[in-house]
Amino acid sequence: MKRFFSTFILLIITVLVFAQGQPKNVILLIGDGMGPEQVRSLKYLNGGVPGVMTQFPYHGWSMTYSLSDTITDSAAGGSALSTGKKTINGYVACNEDGTPNQTLLEWAHQHGKATGIVVTSHITDATPADFYAHVTSRKMMDEIARQLAFSDVDFAVGGYLNYFLPDKRDDKLALVDTMKKRGYTVCYNTTELTAAAQLPVVALMSEKKPDRASDRGEWLAPAVTKALQLLENDEDGFFLMVEGSQIDWACHVNNFGHMSEEILDFDNAVLIAYQYAQTHPNTLVIVTADHETGGLKINDKIDRLSPKTAQKKLKKYVTWKKLYHTNTDVPVYAFGPGAELFQGRMENTDIPQKIWSIWK
Ligand code: MG
Ligand code: ZN
Repeated sequence: MKRFFSTFILLIITVLVFAQGQPKNVILLIGDGMGPEQVRSLKYLNGGVPGVMTQFPYHGWSMTYSLSDTITDSAAGGSALSTGKKTINGYVACNEDGTPNQTLLEWAHQHGKATGIVVTSHITDATPADFYAHVTSRKMMDEIARQLAFSDVDFAVGGYLNYFLPDKRDDKLALVDTMKKRGYTVCYNTTELTAAAQLPVVALMSEKKPDRASDRGEWLAPAVTKALQLLENDEDGFFLMVEGSQIDWACHVNNFGHMSEEILDFDNAVLIAYQYAQTHPNTLVIVTADHETGGLKINDKIDRLSPKTAQKKLKKYVTWKKLYHTNTDVPVYAFGPGAELFQGRMENTDIPQKIWSIWK
C-alpha cells in the first residue's frame, strides 16, 4: 500500500512538472528587422538599462535564410515563424508549389483558442499576412485584405484602411461591411479600440501607410493591453502575434532616430506581455525577429562612456552596412512554460515547431 502511494505521488509530480512545461497561451512578438545590435541599442537609449526582452531567462539564436535565398525577405521570414516551413522570398504561408501551410494562428483557432494580431504596419503587410493569409506574392494586398475579412482572426490591429474600402479596390468589395456582417466591431483609432468590449474586433488605425512612432500616437501598447484583456476570456487559451513592424522600415533607410523610436515602442509591448505572463503562468512569451535589416553596428568604444554620455552620443557610434536585410542570426528570448526549449542556435522554423511540441 505504501509503495502504491509513493508511486502515485511520483506520478502526480510527473504530471504536474510536465503540465508546467505546457503553455495554454502563446504570445509571439516579432521585431521586424531586429538583429542583435538593434536590441543592444536599447541599453544605450535607456541610459544603461538593457531591453526588457534581454531580461528573459532563456535566450537563443535563429538562422533566418529562406528556401530561395541566403537573405530572407519578411514574407518568407515570417512564414518560417508562422508555419514552421521555409519558403521562397515573397511567399506568404505557402509552399513553393503554392499550396498553403497551416499557421500557428490557424492551429490555435482549430483548437478552440482565441487569436489576435497587433502590428504597426499595414495589417496586410507581409508579417501579419503570414499568420492569416496564403498567397504566392506579398504584393497581393487586395487579396490579403480579402482573406483577412473572411479569416478567423478574433482581434486584428494595424494600418491601411483603404485596402478594405470598395472605391479603393479593383473588385469593389466592401470589406469593412463584410467584417461588420461577420460580427466584428470595427474601430478606427485608439479611443474606439480601448472602448471595444468583446471579440471579434478589427482596428484599421490609418487610411494609408502608418506613421512612425512619434507621429502615430499611442497605438501598439494600448492595442496589446486590449488584446490580452479580450483574448484571455477564452477558456481554451489564446494566440497573440505582436509585431514591431517599423524597426525594419527605419533600418531600410538607415534612420537611427526612427529605429530608436520603434525599438523602444516594441520593447514596451514586450514589457506588457512579460508582465502578463508573470501573473498568468500558463503563458509562453517568445520574442524574436524575422531577419536583421541594415547591418547595424554600434562601436564597442561606446562602453567606455558613462550611461548618460552614451545616451547623448549614441548616434555618433552607429554605422550601417546596407539598405537591405542581412543574414545575421537574430536573437530569440523566451519566458514561461517551455521557455527552456528556446536556447542555442536554431532554424527559424524550429520556433513554431517547438511551440507546437508543447502547446496544449
Ligand atoms: Mg513586417
Ligand atoms: Zn525589410
